[in-house]
Amino acid sequence: MASLAGSPWLTSTLLARVRGKSDRVHTVVRGDTLDAIARTYGVTVAALRARNRLKNTTIIIGQKLVIPGASDRAVVASATPSVLSPVIAATRALSITPKRWKFIVAHHSGIERGSGKIYDREHRRRGYENGLAYHFVIGNGRDSGEGEIEIGPRWLRQIHGGHVRSETYNEHGIGICLVGNFEKRLVSKKQLASFTALVDWLRSSAPLGIRPAFTVHRWVDRNHTVCPGKYFPYTAMTRRYRA
Ligand SMILES: [Zn+2]
Repeated sequence: MASLAGSPWLTSTLLARVRGKSDRVHTVVRGDTLDAIARTYGVTVAALRARNRLKNTTIIIGQKLVIPGASDRAVVASATPSVLSPVIAATRALSITPKRWKFIVAHHSGIERGSGKIYDREHRRRGYENGLAYHFVIGNGRDSGEGEIEIGPRWLRQIHGGHVRSETYNEHGIGICLVGNFEKRLVSKKQLASFTALVDWLRSSAPLGIRPAFTVHRWVDRNHTVCPGKYFPYTAMTRRYRA
């Protein structure tokens, strides 16, 4: 087909021509939707469609999409929860092995004090040479902001976690720890909002090239722990992250 408008594909020559200075290119992977890609890059579906001259929202694996640049991005900055912006920015700068992260493992810290920085020091003192055993920590408002997402050094270095006994789950699981003891209380609204925003984004598949399965510590290390506590919303989370 000669007409560009009639084809969802852009050849590399055309790509070079339509790409602006601050544009990026996303290659569609299995599980991607236009909506998820738009959220990942903080642009609108409309802007994505316009830039790539898509007649509808159909995309195919391997298709290259030009992500509109900074000027378009500013317009929809509010579409991304601000708590997630640093995570998205930091993760974009990383080189992630596609399909490495097959699981997301939820934890609680079991205590109300602490933050990513504090647990990092604690874990180093306990002999974890890579520090903080989790990839992300979500604060409870005491030693870090309520719902604040701290990015652990292991995520920035894209290395295995040390949060479970299973080697497979440490190697392929993203460890997310919510500060608090959910044997004693419910997860706060703000913490849960940040947690679901983070997991939604990680599972939107565009950043990782795969949709990681959701699990929790006690299901991985059976009979060894109650983590993340009896008040963690297991049913709601499994329903949300089923398949
Ligand atoms: Zn745990």
